[in-house]
Amino acid sequence: MVPKIAVIGAGIAGIHCSSELIKQGYQVDLYEKSGKVGGRMKTDLIKGFQIDHGFHVLQTGYEFTQSVINYDKLEAKAFEPGALVIRSSTRRNKIWRLSDPFRRPFSSIKDAFGFFASPFDMLKVLLMRRKITRIPLSEIFDEGELSTEQWLSEQGFSQGFINRFFYPLFSGIFLESELRTNERLFKFVFRTMSKGDMVLPKNGIESIPLLLSKRIPKQNIKLNSEVELVSQNLIKVNGADIEYDGVVIAYDNRPIQSKKHVWTLYFSADKSPFPSKHIMLNSEIRDFDNLISYVSVPSDIQPSYSPAGKSLICITVLGEKCEQLGLHLENEILSKVKSELLKWYGEDTKSWESIATQHIIKALPETDSSIFRKSISKVDDGFFRCGDYMMHGSVEGTLISARNTVEEIVRSIPLSQ
Ligand SMILES: Cc1cc2nc3c(=O)[nH]c(=O)nc-3n(C[C@H](O)[C@H](O)[C@H](O)COP(=O)(O)OP(=O)(O)OC[C@H]3O[C@@H](n4cnc5c(N)ncnc54)[C@H](O)[C@@H]3O)c2cc1C
Repeated sequence: MVPKIAVIGAGIAGIHCSSELIKQGYQVDLYEKSGKVGGRMKTDLIKGFQIDHGFHVLQTGYEFTQSVINYDKLEAKAFEPGALVIRSSTRRNKIWRLSDPFRRPFSSIKDAFGFFASPFDMLKVLLMRRKITRIPLSEIFDEGELSTEQWLSEQGFSQGFINRFFYPLFSGIFLESELRTNERLFKFVFRTMSKGDMVLPKNGIESIPLLLSKRIPKQNIKLNSEVELVSQNLIKVNGADIEYDGVVIAYDNRPIQSKKHVWTLYFSADKSPFPSKHIMLNSEIRDFDNLISYVSVPSDIQPSYSPAGKSLICITVLGEKCEQLGLHLENEILSKVKSELLKWYGEDTKSWESIATQHIIKALPETDSSIFRKSISKVDDGFFRCGDYMMHGSVEGTLISARNTVEEIVRSIPLSQ
């Protein structure tokens, strides 16, 4: 008899796990409580704009993901390497263009010399890059118990440089406002960014799970099916008990849930406020009472994100930063963001139309160093597990976790029983 496996949750972890098991010859049912696949990788169509669920990109430096997903099929296009960095002023805002701080740190960061980059910090970036890119990927999660902030201080960076460069970028990636994330994840992200580009698929971030789900026969995907876990071999769906040889939990069902949340605000404008295809970091996010971490314009990269003649502007605001400023309501956050945009981009912003304001709770898992390395996919209760919460909050971490789970199932429930 072919072993029967239930996979619960059709985010990219559950989808990849299911399709690989089917490829190996297992009989698989993939259950999803909502009406569509993709989990957190969603795109809504609003007034002709493609609105992703939070600012969401793929990296060409994700080595495992590259082996799973055909980036060409997604018609993915790259942001320009590096970033714009803004400092506001009552007289004239200053914008620096860091052309490629990850691959060519010296030539890039020297542009910002005098404000946040001292020669000493520039040299440190060079040394850090050399050190991190030499660590093989298989070893990058092996050791280190410091937070990102502690680790950067230990490398000798000045606090000003951490606050104005590393903080806006990495707090926005980790979706937390303290740089408390473990140093190993920082090194992984830094290494990834040093080796590739940030890309956006043509048809929105949801096109990634949609592409992956095509590998699973339609009848094996059960949408609108919230599962109740009964035991390692039994689940309850829509009132019915169903037995399986193995059950995979592909969503985070740990009792302590993540506190990481993010607000994403989308605006329509007649033209892009940016001179180049970069994201723009707020160098003052840590020092002042302002909210915006960074701004991107997805339609500059993929014109399909907006109707003809319009630009789509995406603003990322950390939930923790809102809490620190006592802002909890959508209209308070929208109004503060608009006042910051006015300061940065001038009177034009008054005509920008708000298209969507999203509040995404449990956006990324709180993972610690113990989880990165163990590659666990089965714990004492007998259930198999996969998802970013078993590795780290990224497409790469999620897909690796799914692969590990498939390997574990093949070992413990072999096809020829
Ligand atoms: C705002 C934001 C920005 C991000 N940006 C990036 C980025 O730029 N680059 C990057 O690499 N990663 C990014 N990520 C991370 C990436 O999206 C996630 O790591 C990945 O999508 C996690 O997939 P998953 O399958 O583990 O979980 P999920 O996508 O959460 O999937 C779990 C699924 O399980 C379903 N489910 C839950 N309970 C049940 C039940 N009882 N029965 C049936 N179904 C159930 C849910 O409905 C859901 O569909 C971002 C995430 C967010 C939220």
